[in-house]
Amino acid sequence: MEFSIALLKGDGIGPEIVDSAVAVLEKTAAKFGHRFSFTPYLIGGCAIDETGIPLPPETIEGCLASDSVLLGAVGGPKWDDQPGNNRPEKALLGIRSALGLYTNLRPAKLYPALRSASPLKDEVIGKGFDIMIVRELTGGIYFGDRGYREGRYGQEAFDTEAYSVTEIERIGRAAFESAMKRSRRVCSIDKANVLESSRLWRKTMHELSGKYPEVQYSDMFVDNAAMQLVRDPGQFDVIVTSNMFGDILSDEASQITGSIGMLASASLGETTRGMYEPIHGSAPDIAGQNKANPIATILSGAMMLRYSFGLSAEADAIESAVDTVLSAGWRTADILGSTDGTPLTCTEMTEKIIEVL
Ligand code: NAD
Repeated sequence: MEFSIALLKGDGIGPEIVDSAVAVLEKTAAKFGHRFSFTPYLIGGCAIDETGIPLPPETIEGCLASDSVLLGAVGGPKWDDQPGNNRPEKALLGIRSALGLYTNLRPAKLYPALRSASPLKDEVIGKGFDIMIVRELTGGIYFGDRGYREGRYGQEAFDTEAYSVTEIERIGRAAFESAMKRSRRVCSIDKANVLESSRLWRKTMHELSGKYPEVQYSDMFVDNAAMQLVRDPGQFDVIVTSNMFGDILSDEASQITGSIGMLASASLGETTRGMYEPIHGSAPDIAGQNKANPIATILSGAMMLRYSFGLSAEADAIESAVDTVLSAGWRTADILGSTDGTPLTCTEMTEKIIEVL
């Protein structure tokens, strides 16, 4: 099969890790008899340097013309002085919106070989955990009305959380469908004891759960969920939540797996075109040093094969190559325990994974 992939390498370690994922995808294509073509486009700080804005129209057009999109990361201290609406990170909201990507899937899985890298105690980890966080991506407070106004204590700033039934239902369906392919449990997270938008969220999720009798449904307040994730992460299968709660909880979930450099994500909408990216940022502190862990981006490539191209065997092959390399004890610096020896560079880790493939 043939697929075109738009590459948004971005800033910092973005180019290094995207190059690694491309090498792995090319090897996978060769092994399974597919052809993937890759076209790079500017996004983030490098786009500001070249064009003055973080998301040039050619990037949006290029992504819309591709079968799928692979993103590295954007941002860095060089662009910290940019005004709020021209910051590199603004491009992320813009591209998700332009591509109609309202569902964010973030798996947070503990690799048995990396158990000791988790900050949680062994008895808390128990049999391990494999959580899928389904985060709403184009609504809520990140997109609501905002501004400045005269308030009780003088000038104040405000942001607004708003969700429609349609938005809640479509993200809910994504969560229930995902649960059907996993352990068939969905926990919806909200703040319905305080927020009106959360009360509508909870009511809508309850109604939707009636359409999925095979799935065990529960709901939880976000403050409790933040505690439960570090108290008993194994209780969760699929978590579904709003944009802001998902942003925060998915970072917490990534931390308990041991390394931010291992976690992939997929952003999906109504079409098969998705955007796939590691959950970490551009890591300016290690950029250009060949030290970055490429696994999150390589696994994002595997998610692209599975969710956008329907190539499950190919995705399985990449995921199992990563498992094999980790089980054999190979590590980049970020997942190196104190007694594990010399770390691999980004390119060496990529080569190991390609060797196994
Ligand atoms: P970060 O994720 O870039 O880095 C946090 C820490 O994790 C750093 O010590 C970094 O070296 C390490 N790290 C991250 N990815 C790694 C990898 N693959 N291998 C090894 N170590 C890794 O978060 P930050 O420092 O808060 O943000 C840096 C920049 O990235 C900021 O400009 C921020 O806005 C941006 N950012 C972008 C995205 C994105 O593009 N999706 C997401 C988050 C942050």
